[in-house]
Amino acid sequence: CPLGPALLFVKTRQGREEGRRFYACSACRDRKDCKFFQWEDEKVSEARLAAREEYNRNHQPFFTHSQNVERYKNFVLLPLSERRFCQECQQLLLPAEWEKHSDHQFLCDISTAQLKSPSQLLHPLENKKTNAQYLFADRSCQFLLDLIINLGFRRVLSVGTPRLHELIQSKASQEEDFRVRSLLLDIDFRYSQFYAEDEFCHYNMFNHYFFGGEAAREMCRKFLCQDNGEGVIMITDPPFGGLVEALASSFKKLMAMWKETEKEGHNNHEMPMFWIFPYFFESRILEFFPGFSMMDYQVDYDNHALYKHGKTGRRQSPVRIFTNLTPSMIVLPVEEGYRFCAICQRYVSSGNQHCEICNSCTSKDGRRWKHCVLCKKCVKPSWFHCSNCNRCALQNHTCEETDAGCFVCGRAGHKRSTCPSLSRA
Ligand code: SAH
Ligand code: ZN
Ligand code: ZN
Ligand code: ZN
Ligand code: ZN
Repeated sequence: CPLGPALLFVKTRQGREEGRRFYACSACRDRKDCKFFQWEDEKVSEARLAAREEYNRNHQPFFTHSQNVERYKNFVLLPLSERRFCQECQQLLLPAEWEKHSDHQFLCDISTAQLKSPSQLLHPLENKKTNAQYLFADRSCQFLLDLIINLGFRRVLSVGTPRLHELIQSKASQEEDFRVRSLLLDIDFRYSQFYAEDEFCHYNMFNHYFFGGEAAREMCRKFLCQDNGEGVIMITDPPFGGLVEALASSFKKLMAMWKETEKEGHNNHEMPMFWIFPYFFESRILEFFPGFSMMDYQVDYDNHALYKHGKTGRRQSPVRIFTNLTPSMIVLPVEEGYRFCAICQRYVSSGNQHCEICNSCTSKDGRRWKHCVLCKKCVKPSWFHCSNCNRCALQNHTCEETDAGCFVCGRAGHKRSTCPSLSRA
């Protein structure tokens, strides 16, 4: 489909495969956004293949990345008064194009500072289920950068983290002794207007597809293999509705790309990685990356009403950092209430109490959890042990366990499309 190779899907009920397997778009969960569909065992006629290729060609962006790079070079030569950005087309305009966009809304006097913060200039994609863009709050973005610097990393593979990329790029252009570099991999092609080929690759993280072909893949490989692969960390913040197995498979391929570049061998070492994702995906991520640990740090967003970190009546963000680095190395800010647990050898939230019985700081959501002797584990403070279900649950839960759980959070009573964990105000 236009977003690269489709993925093979299977419907399951209660863990069992059901019905015919089929291919569908890797990135769009909604058939309205991409109508690609093909049964696994379906024969596709030559005519349909040709039509499909034609369709894919017609659904590529109007300008190529290198054309956009040329346009940018011309754009920055323009005097401020001639620098326009079309808000409807989300495009930098050259004077010869003004006419065509005359009945569109546009911004004038686009400054160099604005060009250096494209994530502020572009409006976040919000309407689509899987393409939603939630931008880091400054506090969280700065925290990530400080962490990267303190850990001694010099190159960041930013996969779906345009705001972190932009913070790094603008520091690199302003501060002479700033040594960190970043390469952005993202499906949002609008960023190709602001970054050259060695700063941005148009990439689909659900199928490890480089839209720019071999040249783009090679750009990424080179970035990873500089200095014999040392000093690299990958940081990713995928859409939360995304399929964990598809993401994990792509991330393993990126890790393999780093690994194959080594000349001397990294002694079974993995490419360091931060995977930013909600805490209720912990078990899913650990399925694919058993060596990862979840950090207590709560990642905050600017344009996410639910996950915002307010001054008063603070809402708790459910988004965490999963990493293959040693947890004790991830120093969390004490001024925000995080403390070091000497037994667990990691930083934890202020509310996260070390449980003597579990011998671990067990809270996942930052609130103080309580130990249930019958369940033999710590549970959320709002839960009570239900003797019917023989497990802890909310007091007003319905005692029937037949329903298969929600795909996202595993809880019964709703489907992934209506999962409260993903709901956005
Ligand atoms: N918090 C991050 C943004 C995360 S939003 C920041 O502030 O930098 C998710 C990002 O992943 C968006 O930039 C979006 O364009 C990108 N994305 C969504 N689907 C993708 C896909 N299939 N492949 C690659 N990137 C994708
Ligand atoms: Zn326009
Ligand atoms: Zn502890
Ligand atoms: Zn406990
Ligand atoms: Zn219990």
